Amino acid sequence: MRYLILSDIHSNLTALEAALAAAEGRWDKAICLGDLVGYGPDPNEVVDRIRALDATTIRGNHDRVCCGLTDAEDFNPVARGAVNWTRQQLRPENQEYLQALPPGPMNLNGMVLIHGAVRDEDEYVIAPGQALASLLEASSDLSFFGHTHLQGGFSFHDNQLAVIHPKYGPQAGFWPLHVEKETRYLLNPGSVGQPRDGDARSAFIIADIDHQIIEYWRVPYEIRAVQQRMFRAGLHESLILRLALGR
Ligand code: ZN
Repeated sequence: MRYLILSDIHSNLTALEAALAAAEGRWDKAICLGDLVGYGPDPNEVVDRIRALDATTIRGNHDRVCCGLTDAEDFNPVARGAVNWTRQQLRPENQEYLQALPPGPMNLNGMVLIHGAVRDEDEYVIAPGQALASLLEASSDLSFFGHTHLQGGFSFHDNQLAVIHPKYGPQAGFWPLHVEKETRYLLNPGSVGQPRDGDARSAFIIADIDHQIIEYWRVPYEIRAVQQRMFRAGLHESLILRLALGR
């Protein structure tokens, strides 16, 4: 079984389509780790596309806030502006779809799906010390998380915690990670629609469970087309500019 693992799409349909085109024919089941919406110009289009894929999806903090389950008071003013815009755009059936999304952690075929951390869907796992709790608490050796928009992750073997840095070149393509026995993994596919690891390309994972190989993918997309739609929608300049910076 090969899983296409998407996270943090953030209403960026162009990036999502580029990722799906690159992954075409290489996966059997799609997974989304949350934050379908927020920040970008295409909330309905992205929700429609994920629904059409029949992806197994958990909610992210932006999904929860943009569909009105919780308020945006913890968000910074720029993010809150995008929330308000997204709330006005979402069609009722897409709002209901987001409201019904389950929170993580979710167990799926020996994997654990998380938006932030095992104990808190809003927690950012960036440093190894922050990863340790989820590595110890997850109910399976193989967990996937999002929220930070940083592709990579952590492994834990023989009481040694290691950071995983995918090593790919400037070409579109993937870097393979071989899953070792008796090792725990907490892996982040990166963000499809708003990368923050200094690489502006769309990020995702294809996990080949039968062959125990995790492919970390990076794919370019037409950033300017998204920036133009964001400008026309009146979304904040800093959100428009950061797409090309990958920050
Ligand atoms: Zn996010």
